[in-house]
Amino acid sequence: MKVAVVGTGKMGREVEAVLRERGHEPVMVGRADAFPAGCAVGIDFTRPDAVVENVKKALAARARYVVGTTGWSDRADEVRRLVEAAGGGLVHAANFSVGVNLFYRIVREAARTLAAFPDYDPYVLERHHRQKKDAPSGTAKTLAEILEQAGGRRRRAVTSLSAPLKNDEFLVSAVRAGGIVGEHTVGFDSGGDEILLEHRARSRRGFALGAVLAAEWIASRTGVFGFDAVLADLGERV
Ligand code: NAD
Repeated sequence: MKVAVVGTGKMGREVEAVLRERGHEPVMVGRADAFPAGCAVGIDFTRPDAVVENVKKALAARARYVVGTTGWSDRADEVRRLVEAAGGGLVHAANFSVGVNLFYRIVREAARTLAAFPDYDPYVLERHHRQKKDAPSGTAKTLAEILEQAGGRRRRAVTSLSAPLKNDEFLVSAVRAGGIVGEHTVGFDSGGDEILLEHRARSRRGFALGAVLAAEWIASRTGVFGFDAVLADLGERV
């Protein structure tokens, strides 16, 4: 399959390699390039402010689209409307690593259990390389939503503080340093002890593989999906 790789940065280059390994034909698309003709799908790892225009270009070319770029959730409804109106297909996820999607399931179960024990304060801490443009990460936001939905005493995520946490709040915070690929910690601290859950990405390949699996999956489908729909179909229900 001919696949447009939109964005030729760190992730775009990983996606190119995985596409070749899986027998596809990558077409690299830089910032000033038009969407290439003849591509069934595009995979976007660019920057938040480019996503809506890129989706429009892919829809005009009648290509399906996979968005791995993070930091554009404020425009998610607009993108959904565009794709549905055009009868297109799109998969988006803040994290295309299979391991992180299993981590979501583990955190969901832990948060439900801990919700009955109000002494345990939840928190989310993520760490990424110094070049990452958004904070907290899209993955940290998803983890925070999982904690909010669990319905414990602290069920409102906050990302900055100018006074102590209120009784119903928990903190989501970020580290930006060096070349950290991506690490997410969910903790539950009672004061007397602490329960820690952690996922560490060791390379970008896992993200790229997930995005390529999503591209193969969406090529023959219509609608807007998350990575969980792809994994469910591939037998990795999360
Ligand atoms: P990067 O800065 O290395 O690469 C981004 C590239 O996109 C750059 O080469 C830039 O020139 C290019 N670009 C910008 N606007 C463009 C446009 N309109 N058309 C084409 N190219 C354009 O960044 P990266 O590490 O590759 O990450 C890219 C995005 O992917 C970030 O938002 C990051 O948070 C996200 N990300 C997501 C996952 C996931 O699993 N979903 C994993 C890693 C990174």
